[in-house]
Amino acid sequence: MKLSLTILLLLLNYTISFAQDINKIITTAEAGRILSILASDDMRGRKPFTNEIEKAADFISTDFKKSKLDFFPGLTSYRQSFSVYKAKAISVDATINDATINQDKIIVITTDSSLQIDQFSNYTRKNIDSSHDLMKEASLILKDKKNYIIFVDSFHAKNFSKLKRYKREAFKMNYNVIFVMTNMKPVKYNFNIKHEIIASELANVTAMIPGKSRPDEFVIFSAHYDHIGVGKPNSAGDSIYNGANDDAAGTTAVMMLGNYFNKIKSNERTLIFVAFTAEESGGYGSRYFSTQINPDKVIAMFNIEMIGTESKWGKNSAFITGFEKSDLGKILQQNLAGSHFKFEPDPYPKQQLFYRSDNATLAALGVPAHTISTSKMDEEKFYHTQEDELETLDLKNMAEIIKAIALSSKTIISGKDTPTRVVKQ
Ligand SMILES: [Zn+2]
Repeated sequence: MKLSLTILLLLLNYTISFAQDINKIITTAEAGRILSILASDDMRGRKPFTNEIEKAADFISTDFKKSKLDFFPGLTSYRQSFSVYKAKAISVDATINDATINQDKIIVITTDSSLQIDQFSNYTRKNIDSSHDLMKEASLILKDKKNYIIFVDSFHAKNFSKLKRYKREAFKMNYNVIFVMTNMKPVKYNFNIKHEIIASELANVTAMIPGKSRPDEFVIFSAHYDHIGVGKPNSAGDSIYNGANDDAAGTTAVMMLGNYFNKIKSNERTLIFVAFTAEESGGYGSRYFSTQINPDKVIAMFNIEMIGTESKWGKNSAFITGFEKSDLGKILQQNLAGSHFKFEPDPYPKQQLFYRSDNATLAALGVPAHTISTSKMDEEKFYHTQEDELETLDLKNMAEIIKAIALSSKTIISGKDTPTRVVKQ
């Protein structure tokens, strides 16, 4: 009797300590430690192209190092740097049918410093007349990624300057689009356009744990670490958009998952952890990242966005965007069966969240790439405000969500389950 009780106690003790491992590694305190740094006023809203986002990148790198994670294949640090380009107009000399065209009637989308174009150049001509929706047509034309010269009817004079929004930073383009406002019928024309091209560097922060038996199959955990910086002060005099929930919370999850998975070392597939830059200003980070990995080898992507508040169902629950687009969500639900935690399909389908975060680029390439979130999109009152601060988050609930991601993904990282692919776009 005495012996069996001892054995029973030993067994019980063993079971508890084994089950407690995750609770010791993924803790509320650790979530608070990381978040309090990423969302501090010192980081001034982690806006791309500022010193403060560099500070955030350094902090994430240091933490990846502390967790003893490997570099992403081909890199020599945790930074995955790349350049984007902005064209600043220097001069535009233009004539149509020998008449000079005023510079303010021309908007050029380019990353080339010098362009010389006439009616014989290899440019597709197109007219946007009064029957067209200017911005809609322009966005379709730009999506085509080809040389275009577009003659815009002066009916659109009031909205013409809105096209300048397309002159923001871009990856190097191998095409140019020229919008000209004129009511002439262009028979011959000549454009001589000069820009100063300003290159700026951005960086994702990424790390890896090689898979034991399937190193060429990747599972990605991601979030964006940038936010929108500093704006006008609110009534309390606060001008810093800390972005604690959006998305220091997701970044914290990625960092903690990296640490956890490297401690338990049970992954047969290769795990990749990535904090994306510039999600809020064009998705450049995830777009660049997706060119650095073979999407066919990415088995699943868990993108984590805004998990610091309670979901509409309360604690211990989160939703998965694009739930029906692959069976990843079902696999996660199965792995959590009998636990206190629930993953639900995205309850805000009209908001198109599946296409609005960093999972979208890889999803378009067929990867079961989904975003996990708790954000109440119809009533998240601090969303993109100065009040999105650490104090408004539920860290305990957040730690539970991170644990749920770790536990529910286990059959995917072990190679037992492979989610179905998303239909390519
Ligand atoms: Zn976000």
